[in-house]
Formats: sequence, structure tokens, C-alpha cells
Amino acid sequence: MQHKKQLLHTVYREYSTWISRFPLACQKGCAACCTQSVTMSSLEGELIFDFFSAQGREKWLLDKLARTVPGKSRSIITTNQFAEACFKHQEVDSDALGCWDFTPCVFLEDEACSIYEARPFGCRSFGSLVRCTAGRAAEMAPIHLTVNTVFTQIVEHLSSEDGCWSTMMSILHSLAYKEDMMKKQHVLKARPVPGFLLEPREMHVVGGLLKKLREQFSDMGGTSDLIDNLLAI
Ligand code: SF4
Repeated sequence: MQHKKQLLHTVYREYSTWISRFPLACQKGCAACCTQSVTMSSLEGELIFDFFSAQGREKWLLDKLARTVPGKSRSIITTNQFAEACFKHQEVDSDALGCWDFTPCVFLEDEACSIYEARPFGCRSFGSLVRCTAGRAAEMAPIHLTVNTVFTQIVEHLSSEDGCWSTMMSILHSLAYKEDMMKKQHVLKARPVPGFLLEPREMHVVGGLLKKLREQFSDMGGTSDLIDNLLAI
């Protein structure tokens, strides 16, 4: 578990370095993306619990969770399931997009994230080149969207041995109340990466990022088998 948490931190760090090349318009106080529909893995949920227990604020977290209804938002398939269906040329029903709750995230306080250092990858991947408004949607470079999908697949992969994927609130609820996540209708089993859905011109960017992940993780004394397996996909 500790090994995977370290790898997850490395994934977050490498993504943050890569994303810094874009002149994103996002800034503190702009919280349109912060809803209860953010999804994440159970490993990311563990990191959020670590964040609260390091600060002795577990009770604060439990109070927040007590005010939410898990399952109001739900994914029907995970990103890796979607990729697998594409590789098998299977139709993915539009219902697979799930149903979503766009009420503000419980961690949003004064229009800022109160768990910024521990926020999951879904939140880290928010970004827009223009300031979003009611009439103007976010804009992203196509390679930004591709890298977001690849990193989401890797984050899911890190939980694929025995972990889950769902909305942030559903995962945190299950962890807090020690529920069997696999028995929850609105929680999905995390899947391994079946391959990446890339255009040929995007392969060198993603290959370079995976190699950097491997180098960084090796420098930390970790084994890089997991990344080597992904590089071989
Ligand atoms: S965890 Fe933080 S960044 Fe993510 S949706 Fe909630 S307030 Fe926004």
C-alpha cells in the first residue's frame, strides 16, 4: 500500500510539472468545477484520510461526510472499462456517462479547496485556457485532454488489485464507515490499464511522461515494474 501511495504522489507531481506549460486561466476563487461529481480511486481516498489524520482532523471529516448522500452521483463504468470497450469495438451506451450531482464539493470553503494538497487527480486535472463563465465552457488543448485521460487510467490502475472507483463522497463514506465497497451499487471495481487511446502523434508525449515517471520513482528507491508494464502496453 505504501509503495502505491508513493507512486500516486509521483504521478501527481509529474502531472503538475507537465501541466505548468499551459497558461491556464484557473485561479483561487474560481470553483465552478468543484462539485460532488468528482470521481477518484480508493487509494486516493486513503491519501485524503492520511491528510486528515496527520492533522488530527478525522472528526471534521466525519462531520462533513455525515451531511452528504453517497450514490447521488455515480459512474456506470470506469475510464479503463471505457478504454477496454473501445479496444474491443463495443458500443458504450450514453447511460454509461452516469448521473451527476453538481452541488458544490463539501471541501469547498470560501471558494477555495480546504484539502488542496490531498485533492484527487480528478481535481488536479481541471483546467481551462479561458476563464469559464455561465455562457463560456472550459477550453483545453487536445493533448491536455489526452494526458488527463492517460493519467486517470494510471491512477485507476494503481487501485486495480483490490480497490475501487467512484465519486469522492462515495469512496470516503465507504472508507469512513468501513463498508465493503464492492457491495455498494454506486462503487465500481478499479480496473487495470488495457491500453491507452492515443493518436500516433501523441505517443511520444505519453511515452516521455511514462519514462519520466519511471525515472522519478527509481530515484526514490522504488521498484518501477508497474511503470515498465505500462510502457510495454
Ligand atoms: S476536493 Fe477541492 S479541488 Fe476537488 S472538487 Fe473539492 S474543493 Fe474542488
